[in-house]
Amino acid sequence: MKLLLFDIDGTLMMSKGAGRIATKRAIQEVFGTLGQIDSVGFGGLTDWQIVAEALASEGFSLEDIGARMDVYAQALARHMAEVLPQHEVHALPGALALVAECVCRSDLIVGLVTGNTALSAPIKLRAAGFNPSDFVVAAYGSEAHDRNQLPFLALERAERLTGRHILASDVLVIGDTLADLRCAQALGARSVIVLTGFEDPDALRQAQPDFLIPDLTHFWDAVRL
Ligand SMILES: [Mg+2]
Repeated sequence: MKLLLFDIDGTLMMSKGAGRIATKRAIQEVFGTLGQIDSVGFGGLTDWQIVAEALASEGFSLEDIGARMDVYAQALARHMAEVLPQHEVHALPGALALVAECVCRSDLIVGLVTGNTALSAPIKLRAAGFNPSDFVVAAYGSEAHDRNQLPFLALERAERLTGRHILASDVLVIGDTLADLRCAQALGARSVIVLTGFEDPDALRQAQPDFLIPDLTHFWDAVRL
């Protein structure tokens, strides 16, 4: 049994600025200020972390934000659903086909490790043409501020779902940023990094992921499962 944990933004799909607009509206609504949001780069961060970085200067702690995460996630999902249809949301090359192929294989478990909240992730995925229920396990950026904790949650859920022990070395984290690579390493999982996202390609190369591919159309050239 192998567990595939996909990142969403920059890996499976692009939402072309919709995420940032929805995030700003939700932060303003829930916290009453935007803080330094315009200087926060979203790539690889959990939604919890994005809010924390934006509002640190306003005196909000990680715990303050965690305490309001449910309210924030609801506001964000509402704004996301409103904003997404006005943007050119699309799946990235090879992503829809790869997920469809993996879902058909009984030896693979398809899941998510994403910085998005549990409420926003399915809205985004649906907008890009994915079926959110294809991802049978997930760990979300509303559950931990530190992305490195998320693969552990996803693995635990996959084991509970299947009733089987899954080795960390049988987990693949598929993402587009150094943060995806680091969270794979935190678990002892292998990393598949695509160059379709938000990170400097040279920085990704230097970090030496297990597999580095231009986009998901090259997945099976690099990875044997
Ligand atoms: Mg990403």
